[in-house]
Amino acid sequence: MTTLSKLPAPLLAWYGAGHRSLPWRQEVSPYRTWVSEIMLQQTRVAAVIPYFERFMAALPTVEALAAVDEPTLLSLWQGLGYYNRARNLRLAAKKIVGFHGGQFPQTYEEIRMLPGVGDYTAGAIASIAFGLPTPAVDGNVLRVVARLTDCHDNVLAPATRRRVTEALAAVIPHDHPGDFNQALMELGATVCLPNTAPMCEACPCRAFCQGFAHGTAAALPVREKKEGRRKEEKTVFILRHGEYEAVRYRGEEGLLASLWEYPNVAGTLTESEAAAQLAQWNVTPHKWVKKAKEKHIFTHIVWEMTVYIIDIMGDGLKEWQWRDAYNAHFYPMPTAFSKLSK
Ligand code: SF4
Repeated sequence: MTTLSKLPAPLLAWYGAGHRSLPWRQEVSPYRTWVSEIMLQQTRVAAVIPYFERFMAALPTVEALAAVDEPTLLSLWQGLGYYNRARNLRLAAKKIVGFHGGQFPQTYEEIRMLPGVGDYTAGAIASIAFGLPTPAVDGNVLRVVARLTDCHDNVLAPATRRRVTEALAAVIPHDHPGDFNQALMELGATVCLPNTAPMCEACPCRAFCQGFAHGTAAALPVREKKEGRRKEEKTVFILRHGEYEAVRYRGEEGLLASLWEYPNVAGTLTESEAAAQLAQWNVTPHKWVKKAKEKHIFTHIVWEMTVYIIDIMGDGLKEWQWRDAYNAHFYPMPTAFSKLSK
């Protein structure tokens, strides 16, 4: 990958001449870099910004994060999805406070040992917060490198990721490793875009980009087909009593653990089957307000939901709670459900 040896100088010059102003770049600390990188996994920058600012206002230090209770943590995370990221953040904060004396670990290996921190995140924190020359290779970076080097290897294969990491480790500038990694991410996010033609005319690397020279850039990277997602059908009941809606706890294990949901059952129920289900729950429909179809896509599963919104009489099951706009923060609900009442 000799092409990559030409990368640092123009990339850093381009990044230095102007880049997006993001809250975690304005004030850099290991804690802020870490939280932002965890939030940015699976989530777009624009969506993360308000969550990041709210999180930092509520939990400005690693000690505050270690001490926070789970409902408060999950309500700060509500809407970002992939809630295990939040739980791992708190676990890691407890480890930093309890095991590292409140000092963020300063080597790549120790950072990598924190719960929820993978190779990419450890590389990003080590380089941005501690100036260590560690590459940070995510899908964005794999795409840019595949195009720069006109590489047709499957970027989903661990061996490809390993090769790219080694190749970047050989060229990352030791005096500006954090800027180099961020510049590469910035290039992938703003110029060498995914799922569309890259904006090569605006790219600082065009002169030596092999994908551009060979006209292959738009077809790269090569991604082996993902396995299809499993479909699950559900019937979800939004049962309203005045301003209140019935919610129940999802339990401590499995998908979306420790969160709250609307009562639901497996399968797609017709209205008469839904009415029979209500009778089993000891509630009487007063008014059927709306029926809708909704979909929610997780990494490996798609929920296909039939949603009934019903005004009811009766108290329902004793394990249900009643949520309204004022007490909603006690009952954090994942987007898969909260979006249904809108
Ligand atoms: S020249 Fe085009 S394909 Fe090559 S790195 Fe730049 S934007 Fe990507």
